[in-house]
Amino acid sequence: MIIVLKAGASDEDIQRVVEKLKEFNYGAHISRGENRVVIGAIGEKRMEEKILIMEQISSLPFVEQVIPILSPYKLVTKEFNPSGTKIRISPDVEIGNDQIVVMAGPCAVESKEQLFEIAEFVKEVGAKVLRGGAFKPRTSPYSFQGLGIEGLKLLYEAKQKYGLPVITEVMDPRDLEIVAEYADVIQIGARNMQNFTLLKEVGKLRKPVLLKRGISATLEEFLFAAEYIMVGGNSEVILCERGIRTFSDYSRNTLDLTIVPALKHKTHLPVFVDPSHGTGNFRYVPSMAKAAIAAGADGLIIEVHPHPEKALSDGPQSLTFSDFRRLMNELKSIADAIGRRL
Ligand code: PEP
Ligand code: MN
Repeated sequence: MIIVLKAGASDEDIQRVVEKLKEFNYGAHISRGENRVVIGAIGEKRMEEKILIMEQISSLPFVEQVIPILSPYKLVTKEFNPSGTKIRISPDVEIGNDQIVVMAGPCAVESKEQLFEIAEFVKEVGAKVLRGGAFKPRTSPYSFQGLGIEGLKLLYEAKQKYGLPVITEVMDPRDLEIVAEYADVIQIGARNMQNFTLLKEVGKLRKPVLLKRGISATLEEFLFAAEYIMVGGNSEVILCERGIRTFSDYSRNTLDLTIVPALKHKTHLPVFVDPSHGTGNFRYVPSMAKAAIAAGADGLIIEVHPHPEKALSDGPQSLTFSDFRRLMNELKSIADAIGRRL
């Protein structure tokens, strides 16, 4: 780490930093600039110790800034698995190779008829995973909250009937056991990206997790959330950009596509994009889905509903069957153009 002292720091201040570093068995390299002193800490430490030392040194009143040299997370970093993580969801679906994987389905499981109709259709047009919420994180307590366990059972039935693995969200650690029993991929929603209790519990599973980016999470916070899961021993984490809160007044969220190449640069984990929540408007979903694949995403998660005007949740951003079919065809050309396949 590099420690930058405030302008005018005295020799005594410098000495205090050197002594503090010595306490932790660090050497110090002092560099005196024209009006600032910069101290390089020399030594290797475990991550836990490093974080504590950085915090303690930052608390010294004459320290301006402490800059880590190596990234503060480790399991998620590119160096940890330079060839990229591949996650097998089912015998014929693997995420993170040259195949683009589309997960599609309703925002919420509403009934057996609704789910089965959607499952049959999305499978026919090439989706590889069926999505559907059973426990829904709705902004209003008066909105449809999902079918709960009944919804999980319907997803499982749909999986058996149509041969599609399923993804569904878990909101509460108390539901994790049952959700993990029925789902092939566990979804952690944007609102729970920093629910550390939930992340730790999911870390104990050996099951793929799709971790959505929090509504105002920085890239670093997003990666720390993934690190929480990985540190528990579960290395099957898919990162998913789903739009962040900005001053945009024309879309529900701002889909931050720049984070796709940024994540690809920093981490070995597969990256997905959710253009449905990212835009909140069915008119914008196809463009953003195509742009996401062009930007290097490994897959998409998209809301589809046969009758968006009757949907119990997120109808305005759901694609109709004909829009979804058209999009899947267009995505094939994009995948082809960048040397991938759908
Ligand atoms: C969802 O996928 O239906 C959902 C609620 O997503 P997010 O957590 O991104 O809002
Ligand atoms: Mn939704």
